[in-house]
Amino acid sequence: MNKLALKLEPIERATARLRNKPASGLRFEPELEAIFDVSTRYRHARRRLWLGWTILFMYDLLILSDFRHLHSNFRFALAVRLLVTLWLAFSSTLHFHARRVVRELNVVSIAIAIVCSNLILYRNLSPVLSSVSQVNTLVALLMIVVLAQLRFPYAVFATATLFAMQLWSIHATHIMTVPQAIFTIRPIVVGELFILLAGFSMEREERLSFLSALRVDLQREKLVALNRELALLSSQDSLSGLANRASFDSRFEDLWNQAVETSKPLSVVLFDIDHFKNVNDTQGHLYGDEVIRRVSQLLVQSLRGKEDFAARYGGEEFVILLPDTSHAVALKVAQRIRRMVELAGSPAFNDDEHVPNAFTTLSGGVATYPGVGIEHRDELLREADVALYAAKDAGRNRIHSAALQWSEASRRSVRPRR
Ligand code: GH3
Ligand code: MG
Ligand code: MG
Repeated sequence: MNKLALKLEPIERATARLRNKPASGLRFEPELEAIFDVSTRYRHARRRLWLGWTILFMYDLLILSDFRHLHSNFRFALAVRLLVTLWLAFSSTLHFHARRVVRELNVVSIAIAIVCSNLILYRNLSPVLSSVSQVNTLVALLMIVVLAQLRFPYAVFATATLFAMQLWSIHATHIMTVPQAIFTIRPIVVGELFILLAGFSMEREERLSFLSALRVDLQREKLVALNRELALLSSQDSLSGLANRASFDSRFEDLWNQAVETSKPLSVVLFDIDHFKNVNDTQGHLYGDEVIRRVSQLLVQSLRGKEDFAARYGGEEFVILLPDTSHAVALKVAQRIRRMVELAGSPAFNDDEHVPNAFTTLSGGVATYPGVGIEHRDELLREADVALYAAKDAGRNRIHSAALQWSEASRRSVRPRR
């Protein structure tokens, strides 16, 4: 079960109830109870496994006492012990996989089997041996409630059943006089009540510490999610939703280093919206913001490479990074974006009078590493910038290539710096 799907409220509610009104019941709301069961069952199962084998060993030691006290009945006693032993061995396999009700009733059945066998075998011998077998009931109860940590309702059920069995055995055998029976039963009842009380407070403590661990877990997961959100917000431009300048800088550094190491090309395209001041002046800043959002969406939609990266470089300028992309392909991508913006970059106008002057267009400059004179990533960016301004000079709404400037430069190879 996903802990994150759970809110803090039910945890707080359950904690307050366990602290202030434990008598109203230990069980949580169903969803929380299911998580509690999953997170405690393995620990319980392990504990019950080793406990089961210890009880089995101790129980089989009773055969020595049978040998001493049950001379005529020893074979029958042996058969009973064997039967209970088999049941103990079989039931120890149930702890890990069965449903809760089966697991808990299984533990109860172990106590019943042990107590029942003792009460039957020692019922008619003497008042002393009968009292001892009554006291053994207390030991069995202690084991299942405190050591095996039986859930409280099952502990109550087990106590009531064992007590009824004790009363029945006293009543049926008549080996003890009434004062002897009262004398034996009184401390046993007190002991049983204390064991129940101990079981209740142990389960309450276990549940409270589960709730507190769960609360810490949830708060940590919440914190991680918040941090992730914060990191996203701090790397995102709030108007366009694109990566901001800071996150562009860090991605640019990574992709540049990668390109230098792998000797694969890295293309950069700088875009600038044409006459944007005009757009703001004629249609207003809100419309201008709308244009920036629209162009940003078109930019993202136009990119096809998994590693391609678009960012708002500042104002009405955008940048895209195209790793492992040749100059020729980068020019095509830039042209595609320019055409998309020309076709779809203008949201509905506020004022029809200004429509002819207000269509959004982009100019772009493309530069690619490796290239002549590009030794550092700043130089790659500068080349793209120079190409962009060449596009502006040439009349706007066009893409220019830094290769135009390189054609005049010498073709000496340069070792790039990181
Ligand atoms: P050019 O074709 O030469 O690029 O002309 P231009 O008008 O686009 O260039 P200029 O640099 O003169 O104007 C850019 C304008 O972009 C000015 C600025 O107010 C506007 N601008 C920058 N950021 C935003 C923004 O977030 N929202 C809006 N609405 N306008 C912005
Ligand atoms: Mg500009
Ligand atoms: Mg501009």
